[in-house]
Amino acid sequence: MNTSFREIQINTTKRRELIDVTQELLMAVQESGIKNGICVVYSLHSTSAIIINEPERGLMEDLLTKVEEDFPRGRDWLHNRIDDNADSHLAGAFMGPSMVIPVRDGSLCLGTWQSVFFLELDGPRIGRRVVIEILGE
Ligand code: ZN
Repeated sequence: MNTSFREIQINTTKRRELIDVTQELLMAVQESGIKNGICVVYSLHSTSAIIINEPERGLMEDLLTKVEEDFPRGRDWLHNRIDDNADSHLAGAFMGPSMVIPVRDGSLCLGTWQSVFFLELDGPRIGRRVVIEILGE
C-alpha cells in the first residue's frame, strides 16, 4: 500500500463560509499516482468542519442558515466565559472534522451533485490547515 500526504492552507473572509476544496482533492489524487484506495480529508481546527454536498448557491446559503439556527451565537454557552466562539466549536463537533472518499481508477468517487467543502465556522482566518491523505495502490 502507498500513502500520499499533503496539507493545504485556506484563507477565509467571513465568520461562516463554505469553501469548495474538490479541485484540490482531485489534484492531490492525480499527483499521488494512487489509482484505488481512499482519500481522507481532515481539518486541523475545532471551529471548522468538512462536509460533502451540492455546490448550488441557494443551498450553500441554506446550509449556513441551518448552522445559525442550530447553533446560535447569542446563547449563554459556558465556553463563552473564556472565549466568544462556543457556537463555532459546537457546530464543528457535531459535523465533524473529516470525510473519507473512495478513490477508484485514479479519481474520487463523488456523485454528480457532490462537492467537498471546508466549512469555516469562526472566521475570517488566515491559513486554515487541511490535511489530504491518500492511501491505496
Ligand atoms: Zn473557543
